[in-house]
Amino acid sequence: MTEFHKASRIDAIGVSQILQIGAKAARLKQQGRPVIILGAGEPDFDTPDNIKDAAITAMRAGDTKYTALDGTPVLTQAIQAKFSRDNDLHFELNEITVACGAKQILFNAFMASLEADDEVIIPTPYWTSYSDIVAIAGGVPVLLPCSDKNGFRLTADALRAAITDKTRWVLFNSPSNPSGAAYRREDYQPLCDVLLDHPNVWIMADDMYEHIVYDSFDFVTPAQVEPRLKDRTLTINGVSKAYAMTGWRIGYAGGPTDLIKAMAVIQSQSTSCPSSVSQAAAIEALTGPQEVLQDRACNFQDRRDLVVDALNAINGITCPTPEGAFYTFANCAGVLNKVTPSGRRLETDTDFCDFLLEEHDVAVVPGAAFGLSPFFRISYATSKQELETALARISKAVGSLG
Ligand code: PMP
Repeated sequence: MTEFHKASRIDAIGVSQILQIGAKAARLKQQGRPVIILGAGEPDFDTPDNIKDAAITAMRAGDTKYTALDGTPVLTQAIQAKFSRDNDLHFELNEITVACGAKQILFNAFMASLEADDEVIIPTPYWTSYSDIVAIAGGVPVLLPCSDKNGFRLTADALRAAITDKTRWVLFNSPSNPSGAAYRREDYQPLCDVLLDHPNVWIMADDMYEHIVYDSFDFVTPAQVEPRLKDRTLTINGVSKAYAMTGWRIGYAGGPTDLIKAMAVIQSQSTSCPSSVSQAAAIEALTGPQEVLQDRACNFQDRRDLVVDALNAINGITCPTPEGAFYTFANCAGVLNKVTPSGRRLETDTDFCDFLLEEHDVAVVPGAAFGLSPFFRISYATSKQELETALARISKAVGSLG
């Protein structure tokens, strides 16, 4: 039998630690252990009924064929109106693209723009797909650690020092997966000032969690903060997190038309177009009642407070208060080098997370998976009751260390 030969580009992609933990947690659960998994990257709400109804209506009306390559005209108009309403950004219709999730938007953008060895600056901790997609596209991810002391936000000095002749993109993700940190106007402005000095560097803003913000946080995006950067900024968003539509696979972006056109070329030879039915649903999401966004953000905020308070009450763990998304990224330096009752020394955040899963039935993800240690990520997109139980277990686990 001929052996399968794997393409070398696969080697550039790390095995996802998040998936490994998920698989291990699932195995333990199957064995009957009462494991609580705090790893989900999706809201625990259901897609609102008005959105589902729009999909059903579209299906019945025969809206079941290939669509325009990168978005139906009606959805593209709805996105144009959304950018104007929420972000004070005006895009022409040919400056907007729709893909099968924001992930495909990122993929299209990097595939369409990176030459071999082009660098992409990624503030860290970062959503792991960024570096993997850059690597698949032949680029080089440049990871810039951002300290919890600065709220996990990139500083102007660090950005300036990281830019080289090879820098093609800088990627912002606010609010962030995994830290929940978000950039205020005054956080972005100094970074935009640096970028104004570097006209060859393009800006990618992943605004997926725009609508999940707390304490009346005033969400802004770089092209809005500094309009002079708009002609080299790709502003990315989607319906997955805001409207609990992860399975519908619709993401979109606004940016300069030459980039948008090049992205469409990549998409034309991969998925052809996003699902017709999902696009109809996304139109309703973006143009229908928007109260759901605020209701859900309030609900998430309650859970954020519960998790942050419980974590900070544990000796050895400190948790900054995230401005958005549905994750906490807590520092666990205070538990490292301690010894478990079974005699294991916890040397890294990965050791700590293994200990929590193996001995206390709570699955969380170590900071190492997102490029910054010693931290761990909790996704609080699960019921309050489960969160309370999980946090009591974490507290007990830490209390047992010697
Ligand atoms: N960006 C960020 C920061 C995310 O966390 C995710 C999903 N985990 C995505 C983009 C991708 O979202 P989707 O492909 O579902 O639109």
